[in-house]
Amino acid sequence: MNKQVRAIGLLSGGLDSILAIKVVQQQGIEVTGLSFVTPFFNANAAQKAADQLGVPLIIKDITAEHFKIVKNPPHGYGKTMNPCIDCHALMVKIAGGIMQGEGFDFIFTGEVLNERPMSQNRASLEIVAKTSGYKEYLIRPLSAKFLNQTKPEQEGIVDHSKFLDLQGRSRKRQIAMAREFGVKEYPNPAGGCLLTDKGFSNRLRELLSYNEDPSVRELRLLRLGRHFRLADTAKLIVGRNQQENEVLESLFESQGYMIMTDDEISGPTCLLIGDNLSEYLERCALICAAYSDVAPGIECPVNIKHASKVSKTTVITDRSHRETDRI
Ligand code: SF4
Repeated sequence: MNKQVRAIGLLSGGLDSILAIKVVQQQGIEVTGLSFVTPFFNANAAQKAADQLGVPLIIKDITAEHFKIVKNPPHGYGKTMNPCIDCHALMVKIAGGIMQGEGFDFIFTGEVLNERPMSQNRASLEIVAKTSGYKEYLIRPLSAKFLNQTKPEQEGIVDHSKFLDLQGRSRKRQIAMAREFGVKEYPNPAGGCLLTDKGFSNRLRELLSYNEDPSVRELRLLRLGRHFRLADTAKLIVGRNQQENEVLESLFESQGYMIMTDDEISGPTCLLIGDNLSEYLERCALICAAYSDVAPGIECPVNIKHASKVSKTTVITDRSHRETDRI
């Protein structure tokens, strides 16, 4: 009896990764999805896709290894702080380790030749394969017709002739395939990774210029609120709406400060983070009041929480504090 062939597929939840799974499954191969989490992306879309496809999903938190690459990518960045070539190589390397450890026959991804000019041209696909250390076992089923055959293809474990010849930026064929396969839900190709967002990347660059080794919490805070650099070691984050205020409140830690207007006043939740913070409290109260609904020139009562203690102060509302030192 022939042994069941098993493969591990990188699943972002985007259409290409879903179609790659469908194409591999058409050969009767058993597929397990693999997705990753860091402070810059999560596995929510992958989980949704895995549920839709009915495949098991392994989720790995790769924050530490991934962040090393974000800070210093051997093959450089894309348009923003996205180190896509090295990020892909890391993901394939991790997939390779799982393949070896758990007896899968090969790894595959939804990469499409020349779909992304920098990270998915022929040279980049080659670098990803080589750098990962699993070149011989990495199949790109959607573009395999244009690429060298891997070991499982040469050995006939999988049928190379059933793989595809997709290439380029047009997604017409993928959309037609999605219809054929009955794939109804898939996210927009642009979304998902904060490192491809210009505003987020600027904040990250700014943070790294003051602190080469930020905590996961600091990285998570980058996606929230308005940010003010008060000093090399002091930063204020100001919630922009009720939802952000609630998240900021949940991220309060006793060594920092939380600054809020009195309950009866509509105003932001602000977190002051860093070291030697007490000298910035007056400024923070002014910034908090500047974003409240108290009219300019009028007194605004502000509460300052540190550890479990709350102190009160009053400042005169002045909207000019909205812009000074804003990142
Ligand atoms: S977009 Fe983000 S998650 Fe995707 S390869 Fe690039 S850096 Fe990695």
